[in-house]
Amino acid sequence: MPEVKEFQAETKQLLNLIINSIYTHKDIFLRELISNASDALDKIRFLSLKDPNVLQNDTDLRIRIEIDKDNNTLIVEDNGIGMSYEEVIENLGTIAKSGTKNFLQQLKQAQIGNSLTVDKENTIINLIGQFGVGFYSVFMVAKKVIVETKKWDQDKGVRWESDGIGTYSIEECEKANRGTKITLILKDDLDEDENYLDQYKIQELVKKHSNYIKYPIKIKWEEE
Ligand code: ADP
Ligand code: MG
Repeated sequence: MPEVKEFQAETKQLLNLIINSIYTHKDIFLRELISNASDALDKIRFLSLKDPNVLQNDTDLRIRIEIDKDNNTLIVEDNGIGMSYEEVIENLGTIAKSGTKNFLQQLKQAQIGNSLTVDKENTIINLIGQFGVGFYSVFMVAKKVIVETKKWDQDKGVRWESDGIGTYSIEECEKANRGTKITLILKDDLDEDENYLDQYKIQELVKKHSNYIKYPIKIKWEEE
């Protein structure tokens, strides 16, 4: 049975903001996911320099993006270091980083009242860029997010699931390969120019924001 846990208060605050206040620049979620995947690949690569065995037979470090129009999902997957159960709770449930706390503080200063103008929205986006709110930006575009991950030195995987509102669920799961698979079930009310199931759109975003990534990024979609 999955365990249902509350997001930390500060995380809730941040998620609420991300879900309810940001209407432009949603594209950055993909940059954040790719950058996390790249970090995870760096970490396993670093370990493998000392001991090549840690890679086992999964030696081609890469990032995969899969577009599934039938299921309205976008998947970003890596064969990086993965996360343990405790690491998932720590990384995807709380705001451990002081940087994000600073972010929330700066945000309080930048915000006047509750209504957001375009200027203020840009301020938030800039702050997100500066402080790297990172993973939580998925909730700009997804109504539900599933993370399946397996750390390189563990037998079992972990499955985390959330709609970004208040709680998440977490449980052990079977997972064949090392690394992290993030499945976004996209919101139904995204604009036409936010069609993240369009391979051209995804290709363009990868090129625009993630050109510097040193691992191959493979994009997969169904032919029509
Ligand atoms: P940051 O990347 O700035 O640390 P994020 O919110 O983007 O912040 O991610 C939080 C943490 O979650 C990361 O530091 C990392 O430990 C973990 N994480 C996120 N995505 C992945 C992934 N694909 N593989 C392994 N760990 C990840
Ligand atoms: Mg990040």
